[in-house]
Amino acid sequence: MPAAQLYDNHGRPLSYVRLAVTDRCNLRCFYCMPEEGIKYLPKNQLLTYEEMERLVGLLARLGISKVRITGGEPFVRRDLVPFLWRLRALPGIEQLHLTTNGLLTAPLVPELKQLGVGAVNLSLDTLDRERFHRITRRDDLPKVMATLDALLAHDIPVKLNAVVMEGQNTEDLGPLAELARHQPVEVRFIEEMPFNGEGSHYPVLTWTHRAILARLTELYPGLHKVPDPAFSTAYHYQVPGFKGKLGIIAAYSRTFCGTCNRIRITAQGTLKTCLYDHGVLDLRALLRANASDETLTAALLRAFGSRPKDGHEAERGRLAHPVQESMSTIGG
Ligand code: SAM
Ligand code: SF4
Repeated sequence: MPAAQLYDNHGRPLSYVRLAVTDRCNLRCFYCMPEEGIKYLPKNQLLTYEEMERLVGLLARLGISKVRITGGEPFVRRDLVPFLWRLRALPGIEQLHLTTNGLLTAPLVPELKQLGVGAVNLSLDTLDRERFHRITRRDDLPKVMATLDALLAHDIPVKLNAVVMEGQNTEDLGPLAELARHQPVEVRFIEEMPFNGEGSHYPVLTWTHRAILARLTELYPGLHKVPDPAFSTAYHYQVPGFKGKLGIIAAYSRTFCGTCNRIRITAQGTLKTCLYDHGVLDLRALLRANASDETLTAALLRAFGSRPKDGHEAERGRLAHPVQESMSTIGG
């Protein structure tokens, strides 16, 4: 029997957990990490697979039915695929999704298909090899494109995530959008957030969701809004004749908080009930103090019962901790 629906203190259903399985990464994206000097967590501070499986099992019993595996780059963590099989087998987990940079992913795509991975979000900020190298500080665009081809060949639904950055890839909006002309992909343009290990890159964000929409409308005058799936963070658009869709995610402007159904567990086992909070529960400490299922469940329910109403309220609650941690520990 499926678990009862879980709600937060604002009456929003909670059904989706994003689990960062590592903070390590084989890229150094400009918007996510400094080029050098990133301090990875000591290995013993990362949750073990057993700890993650226990947490997801408890969440599933409470009503969480969708898991997204993210990171860091999830595939740099050893033995990820066997862990995915274990998650897949947990009663109540109906959807397993992944977010990846695609560097190590292509050869694993047949097994991801067998696993029943429902969709993959693939990060791709440019189709230009030099710009890719400059943004990610690695010359690996061909590997990402091989992953895209493999996902499409195996009919795994793909969303492409492109962070729009002033002075870096704004000329790529058109070429990236063109990927949706002949292929059933959703190309999503994301506002850049200050989660880069250093703090905000700009005094004011120029490439807001409005600016992105204005540029796309210039490129495609027939672009029109189409309905968004429930709980989607993206606004969806269609260009007449395109097989796929375009999306815009107002991650910095935070226009989607009213229907937010997601929680996050960071690589070090901190629960976040909002992307912009500073972490609301140290799950790792509870797990390692041998907390019972009842104690963990009660702590989770308390956290779900005191969620901030939106990302602005959560950010105000950070007080002495302005947003600057790397997205690689949070998972996006
Ligand atoms: N390494 C994987 C990847 O890049 O797809 C998964 C982790 S990454 C942190 C998850 C998503 O967060 C990526 O799509 C990335 O584009 C996005 N992201 C990272 N830093 C961001 C930032 N400062 N602003 C907006 N999106 C960001
Ligand atoms: Fe790595 Fe993903 Fe962050 Fe890029 S966005 S540095 S690929 S974790």
